[in-house]
Amino acid sequence: MTDRFAVASHLMPTYARADLAFERGEGAWLIATTGERYLDFGSGVAVNVLGHAHPALVEALTDQAHKVWHVSNLFRIPEAERLADRLCAASFADLVFFCNSGAEAMEGAIKTARKYHAVSGHPERVDIITYEGAFHGRTLATLAAGGQKKYLEGFGPVAGGFIQVPFADLEATKKAVGPTTAAILIEPVQGEGGVRVVPPEFLRQLRQLCDDNGLMLVFDEVQTGIGRTGDLFGYMHSGIAPDIMALAKALGGGFPIGAFVATAEAGKGMTAGTHGSTFGGNPLATRVGNAVLDVVLSPGFLENTRRMSLLLKQRLAELKDRYPSVIAEVRGEGLLLGLVCVVPNTDMVAALRNEKLLTIAAGDNVVRLLPPLIIDDSQVAEAVAMIDRACAKLAQAAKPVTETAV
Ligand code: PLP
Repeated sequence: MTDRFAVASHLMPTYARADLAFERGEGAWLIATTGERYLDFGSGVAVNVLGHAHPALVEALTDQAHKVWHVSNLFRIPEAERLADRLCAASFADLVFFCNSGAEAMEGAIKTARKYHAVSGHPERVDIITYEGAFHGRTLATLAAGGQKKYLEGFGPVAGGFIQVPFADLEATKKAVGPTTAAILIEPVQGEGGVRVVPPEFLRQLRQLCDDNGLMLVFDEVQTGIGRTGDLFGYMHSGIAPDIMALAKALGGGFPIGAFVATAEAGKGMTAGTHGSTFGGNPLATRVGNAVLDVVLSPGFLENTRRMSLLLKQRLAELKDRYPSVIAEVRGEGLLLGLVCVVPNTDMVAALRNEKLLTIAAGDNVVRLLPPLIIDDSQVAEAVAMIDRACAKLAQAAKPVTETAV
């Protein structure tokens, strides 16, 4: 029998947590319960787009909390209508459905793609083509879409209707298209997969392939959306747009909210009763979402993101040259950057945390740098100094014994 008093916490132990807790945040900084200050280059996995306790978000949240938090979707919700209007005005979309998380947004995106074909007279078109290394969430359908064995194991039958092909492989994608294909689903930059940027040319080729075959092009922008790549949405630099897109993470700046958006044509099957959510798009969540957009869409905001990206990339490239035994490559878009490590990425994350810099591991032995988009030159400089110190220690530890033993 398990000694329940030997268990440190009653939280289900599905995470390998660092023994560190935070009691407050200020901009790009998190203050631990010990009083130590950490520079947050993880942003709660690409969520805290405006850092911590941003005054505009605090104001919106507290003001709305005094009015009304939740009403059901059986009534009109003006803040949700306003947020939907603004997301459509700023993107390719005509229709928005609000939910609570990225996986839920992806489920809705998948349903929308399949329903489009069903109401177009092709209910047999159900298969979704996805890419190796993808991550679309932890629900049963999104796990099947991601196709990662380690996450699927032990959870019973794998949901059908997903066909996975190698990353950014056009020929394999073409071969996978058949009479039952409904859609192609892709992240413009694979985040969890290791900050793997999909070449814009490949996205354009997918658009063409979808147009030629009557398929829905679905982008998972849960991690790349709302400014992370330096554009409001990651698809924008490719010059093409999808038919359906999933959003979450930064959309609420830390308040849980997700959304899937579609063109009027792609969303034509999503009529009354086809989908729903109790909490989705409630007044509190959408009020905060609107406050996030107020800041992210304000003049100069995304220019700062792009400038910080350039600066950080340059400085990281210098560190890569200086510490080839630690960093093999720097990659990414905007402020979704990855250090491909030579040492184990978990060692790098731990070494950076010792220097008081928070980062996040990803696939492909990558360490992700996902600072809030509000960072400035001085915070980039502080982060680079911390990475420099961590690399120096790791390089020293990685030195062959013969070199040090002379
Ligand atoms: N899609 C992508 C690209 C993601 O990065 C994630 C989360 O990391 C998800 C979907 C799932 O989002 P959530 O954890 O909010 O369900």
